[in-house]
Amino acid sequence: MRILMVCFIVGMVLLATPLVSPAALAQKPPILITADLTDAPRKLYHADVEIPVSAGPISLTTPQWIPGNHRPTGPISDITGVVFSVNGQTLQWRRDDVDLYEFHLTIPAGITLLHAHLDCIVTERVSQKLAVLEWEKLLLYPANTPVREIRIQPSIKVPDGWGIGTALTPVSGGPYPVPAAGTTTQFALTDVEQLEDSPVIAGQYFREFPLAPAITPKHYLDVVADNAEDANLRPEILAASANLVREADALYQSHHYRVYHFLLTLSDVAGEEGLEHGQSSDNGVGEKGYADDDHTLANADLLPHEFTHSWNGKYRRPAGLYQPDFATAQQGALLWVYEGMTQYLGNVLAARSGFETQAQYRDQLARSAARLDYNPGREWRSTEDTAIAASVLRDRNVAWSNWRRGQDYYQEGELLWLDADTLIRKLTDNKKSLNDFERIFLAKGGNTGPLIVPYKFDELVEDLNAVVPYDWATFLHDRVDNINLHADFAGIEQGGYKLAFKDKPSPTERALSRIHGRRNMGPDCWFSIGLRIDDSGSIKDVRWSGPADKARLAPGEKIIAVNGQVYSADVLRAAIRDAKGSTEPIHFIVQADSFVNMADIDYHDGERYPVLERVDGTPDYLDDITKPLTTPERAPTQTANE
Ligand SMILES: [Zn+2]
Repeated sequence: MRILMVCFIVGMVLLATPLVSPAALAQKPPILITADLTDAPRKLYHADVEIPVSAGPISLTTPQWIPGNHRPTGPISDITGVVFSVNGQTLQWRRDDVDLYEFHLTIPAGITLLHAHLDCIVTERVSQKLAVLEWEKLLLYPANTPVREIRIQPSIKVPDGWGIGTALTPVSGGPYPVPAAGTTTQFALTDVEQLEDSPVIAGQYFREFPLAPAITPKHYLDVVADNAEDANLRPEILAASANLVREADALYQSHHYRVYHFLLTLSDVAGEEGLEHGQSSDNGVGEKGYADDDHTLANADLLPHEFTHSWNGKYRRPAGLYQPDFATAQQGALLWVYEGMTQYLGNVLAARSGFETQAQYRDQLARSAARLDYNPGREWRSTEDTAIAASVLRDRNVAWSNWRRGQDYYQEGELLWLDADTLIRKLTDNKKSLNDFERIFLAKGGNTGPLIVPYKFDELVEDLNAVVPYDWATFLHDRVDNINLHADFAGIEQGGYKLAFKDKPSPTERALSRIHGRRNMGPDCWFSIGLRIDDSGSIKDVRWSGPADKARLAPGEKIIAVNGQVYSADVLRAAIRDAKGSTEPIHFIVQADSFVNMADIDYHDGERYPVLERVDGTPDYLDDITKPLTTPERAPTQTANE
């Protein structure tokens, strides 16, 4: 069905027949929202919203706590041009004095429909050629009502010729995915909770790739890019994506969506993103993000991670992270499951699907484990505290961030679940694994449509015990709640490897540093002298209690010279190498604000880069874990839907 923006009332009447159940007919009519993205290249989205009302005071709101962000990121400060009207007459409103997301109005007698117009100034996920709509930018609905109980029917208008990717169901006959010029695409009735979970991507260069067509329900990779050639993903990427669908099917043996769309933007302007949704993850990489092997490696776990969230995070969600509305604060204490287990499974699936090799998986694991171990904030703060404080730990200045700790529940959780996986394998002689746990924990109720089933800590313990009896409560508490001076290496060691340091970076680290070099990151000397620097020698972070800290260097300073030579990455690395076996400290001249200081770093262990080394004679569970469960696709045959 094609409707224009002016046809809301017609749309409501037409809706009443095929899409609404008899029980629903007794309810109030749904909200109708039409998102207008035709101004996206000018960084503006618009919406018209028709809200059924009755006479008297009413409070409307926009989302504040955004699911998946785990913090109050609703873009209220960018929502502008808000005008309410009834029968063409503007209605006065007043913002709530405390909850700034809420608008108060009084509906005159006899009025049953309120019209609202609003605009959103969009600063990211948009370019001249593409746009991403996460609905919190435009949503408006009654406050203090569970969002799953508010029915809403969405429509969208995009610039002429732009294709549309979304998991929203188009109304039959509607123009989709490339609407005819000037038309509005209408989607089926849903509720505010699901609409917030159903983003839309649109773009001039749009491709939709069906993935693993033998698997039910259907999966698609929807791509928009700033350049036409970037939207034509390499066959290797399509093969890995199809493998991912098959591997997830084999791993989880359940699903909780009617259809799944990987939504992917390739743009240097629209920014990087990875945001989970039950039926349609929102993924963003640079315009060459999958154009070669180095970039693919840097983005290896993006699609697997966000896909896994459909099970772990969306379907199964910690009770504290699932609130009845988007106004109530979410509580992050169990994010080491929501994100930490997803971090683990996402990386495992990246290897099983072929986004990276088993060796690259091990190299990345070594890097992550070493970074956690050399993160002195763990001396005062537990992993659980990084989860509880999640909403204040993202996007902070990197200066002294190793002493603050960041959202470490991701990587700490990865090590914890690797520990659990290898422990189950050890206890059962490799007959069982974390795969068995996932098939219990993530599959309660069998296959379902989009649904949220909350859980608490005790259910984890119960389901782990169903796989193999063990004191899982103590296992989890010890690793999560306690102060642990060192990272949990037990999974690596039970997996048949040990963490070691070499004087040369692994091939994976070299590949990633080629990418990082393009992002102005300098040489990695974190595990040697304890500095994080950019390519100009500016110090971004100093490892607490490390050699550079002892020499009183500080973030914000800039290295001018090393051992009498003007700073360059090569000069610094040579100085670190030359100091090995010598007693002479490394001499630095640094600029601190408008002053120049001398500093001597007394360090003599050479360059140090983390790797995993195989321990002969032990079970090689780590490589068992990253082996594909299915037969991988090597010669892709997919073609794009035009
Ligand atoms: Zn995540």
